[in-house]
Amino acid sequence: MFESLQDRLGSILNGLTGRGALSDSDVSAALREVRRALLEADVSLEVVRSFTDRVRSKAVGAEIVKSIKPGQMVVKLVHDELVATLGSDQVAIDLNAPSPVTIMMVGLQGSGKTTTTGKIAKRLTERQKKRVLMASLDTRRPAAQEQLRILGEQTGVATLPIIAGQDPVEIAARAAQAARLGGYDVLILDTAGRTHIDEPLMVEMAEIKAKSAPHEILLVADSLTGQDAVNLARSFDERVGISGIVLTRVDGDGRGGAALSMRAVTGKPIKLIGTGEKMDALEDFHPARIADRILGMGDIVSLVERAAENIDAEKAAAMAKKMQSGKFDLNDLADQIGQMQKLGGMGGVMGMMPGMAKMKDQISAAGLDDKLLKRQLAIISSMTKWERENPDLLKHSRKKRIAAGSGTDSADINKLLKMHRQMADMMKAMGGKGGKGAGIMGKL
Ligand code: GDP
Ligand code: MG
Repeated sequence: MFESLQDRLGSILNGLTGRGALSDSDVSAALREVRRALLEADVSLEVVRSFTDRVRSKAVGAEIVKSIKPGQMVVKLVHDELVATLGSDQVAIDLNAPSPVTIMMVGLQGSGKTTTTGKIAKRLTERQKKRVLMASLDTRRPAAQEQLRILGEQTGVATLPIIAGQDPVEIAARAAQAARLGGYDVLILDTAGRTHIDEPLMVEMAEIKAKSAPHEILLVADSLTGQDAVNLARSFDERVGISGIVLTRVDGDGRGGAALSMRAVTGKPIKLIGTGEKMDALEDFHPARIADRILGMGDIVSLVERAAENIDAEKAAAMAKKMQSGKFDLNDLADQIGQMQKLGGMGGVMGMMPGMAKMKDQISAAGLDDKLLKRQLAIISSMTKWERENPDLLKHSRKKRIAAGSGTDSADINKLLKMHRQMADMMKAMGGKGGKGAGIMGKL
C-alpha cells in the first residue's frame, strides 16, 4: 500500500503555520511530499516536474486566507492544479459530423481496444439511439476479427462481415463503403496493436487514417501503464494525431497517475474510462474524482479544520519535538489529553487519520478511553511540577497524597503511570523510525 498524499501533507501541515503568506521553504517542504506521492501514483517524472513547478509558482507568496491554515492552502492548490491539468470539463465523444461519423481506435496490443470498441458501440446504440457498425482491422492476431464479431452478437451491434486475405487499409475502405450504403450513423474502426510502439505500427495507423478520415481518433491506454504513459501518448499523438484518450482497467488501478501523465503531455481530453471487462463497464471521466484519488483526499480537510480551531500550533510543534526525543513527561501527557478532549476524544482523532487504526487499538489497549481522560487529568493536576517531570520517581507516600487530592486510589495512579510509560515508549519508538507517527500526533 502506498501512503497517501494526505498522510504525507498531514504530517507536515504544522510546519506551515502562523504566517501571512506561504514562503518559499513552506512550499518546498510541501512539494517534496507532493512530488513523492505523484511518483508513487506512477505519474511520469517529467510531468511531476512541470506540475510541481506550476504549483510552486502559484503557491509561493500566495496570501493565506485568515480562516485557512497554510497546509490546507497547499492541499487546495495541489488539488485545483490536478483538476486543471486533468481538464476541468468532461468531454464527450464528438459525433458532430456528417454520417457515417468514423471513430478510429488506436493503442498497444492488449490495451483494450476491441473491448472498448464494443463498449462504445453499445453505449451509442442504447443511449443515443445511433446505428453503429464496427469493423476489425486487426489482421495480425488470427482470432481478432472473430473476437469483435462475437462482441457484436453479444451487444446487438452490427459488424463488418469478415473476408479473408484483405489488409487493414482495404478493410477500412470496405467498412466505410458498407457504413455509407447501410445508412449507419457511426463507424468504429478497431485496429491492431503491437506490444510496443514501433515504426510499422505508426505507418499502418497513418495509412488507415488517410484512407478513412476519422472524426475521432481515440488512444486506448491501460491505466496501469507507468512511466511509459508519456512516450505512448506522445508518439501516438505526434504520429497519428489523437482527439482523445480512453483509459482502461481503471478498476485495477488505485493511483490514477497515467491519466495525469497522458493528459499533461498531449493536452487531449480523457473522454471515457473502462472499469471492467463487461460491456457496460464504461464510464465518463470525472477529473475531480481522479484528482481526489491521486491526492488520497479523505477526511483530511475536516481533520485540519477541526484541529485548526482548537490547537495552539506552536505548543503542538514543541510537543512533537519532545516526543521524538523521547522526553514525554506527565505535563506533556496532560496537554495531550486536553487536546484529545477538544478533538472529540481519542477515537475521534484516530478515526480520522488514515493508517492510524492500529495505533488507535494500541491506545485503547493502554487504557486511554475517553471516559478516563477526566480522571487522569485530575490525577496529574494533583501532582507537583517536580512530580510531573519525574513520574518514574513517584513512590508510595506521594501516590497516597495524590490519590487523596484527586479522589482516586493508588491503583488509578499506577494505571496512569503505566499508560504514560507505554505512550512514551511508543512515541520514542516512532520517533526512532523517522518520527512520522509522533509527528502527526504532536502536530494535531
Ligand atoms: P486489444 O488488444 O487492445 O484489442 O485488447 P482487448 O480489448 O482484447 O482487451 C484485452 C484484455 O483486457 C481482455 O481480456 C479484456 O477483457 C481486458 N479489458 C479491457 N478493458 C478492460 C477494463 O477496463 N477493465 C478490465 N479489468 N479489463 C479490461
Ligand atoms: Mg483487439
